[in-house]
Amino acid sequence: MKNLIIDIDGTIIDGNREINNSSLFINKLENIGSNFILATNSIKSHEVQVARLKKIGINVEAKKIYTPIDSINLIIKDKKISNAMIIGTHEEICQIKVNNTIKNPEVVILLDFEKEKFGYRELQLIIDKIENGCPVISASGSPYYLKDGKKHLDTGAFVTLIESVSGKRVEILGKPSNKYFLNAGAILGSKNDNVYVIGDDWNTDILGAKNAGFRSILIKSGKYRRGDENKGKPDFLVDNLTDLLDSDM
Ligand SMILES: [Mg+2]
Repeated sequence: MKNLIIDIDGTIIDGNREINNSSLFINKLENIGSNFILATNSIKSHEVQVARLKKIGINVEAKKIYTPIDSINLIIKDKKISNAMIIGTHEEICQIKVNNTIKNPEVVILLDFEKEKFGYRELQLIIDKIENGCPVISASGSPYYLKDGKKHLDTGAFVTLIESVSGKRVEILGKPSNKYFLNAGAILGSKNDNVYVIGDDWNTDILGAKNAGFRSILIKSGKYRRGDENKGKPDFLVDNLTDLLDSDM
């Protein structure tokens, strides 16, 4: 199998357990020299992701991990941006390859609002920037995430707030955005119809893939619920990643 963008959570790992011999599948891809990346919407560093995978027996290099921050860094490189105002934790900000400054940024980058000392003043500052013509991009469009059955505010909630006040669009660089997948395809260096996206989410993985012109494989694990194939209409539906090892895709 060649040219794969493989979702991490719900597809190859569930919390800290591997899903259905996923380590066998990924290690086999490594052995046969497949062109693949492991894609996530998490903005934790590559090293954190590599360590998580290592615990379940998957050994991949950091460069095989692809996150919304990689997508953002590609845009920064393309547009030759050197100054940005970044909202996030120290660990997250360190992954973005620009100067972090509130003075004349070329772009505002939203990573994570869940940190100490973030409040009204910073939000107003973002509004001031966008009102003055500074573009705003975000790693995520999700309004909330679930933790212990409770909804917690996520970056997308602030995206909605900023858009509603400014009347301007905030570009999302995470799944299921087109940019996320197209930048992943650029990293793989392959033509779109030769790329397969494998994931458990009919929306963020499958529709995201299709909108970018990629082929898609929905796996019956993680978020998958019966009938999701009718919503996302993937090219293939599989029970198990290892089923793909015998295919000639
Ligand atoms: Mg998933």
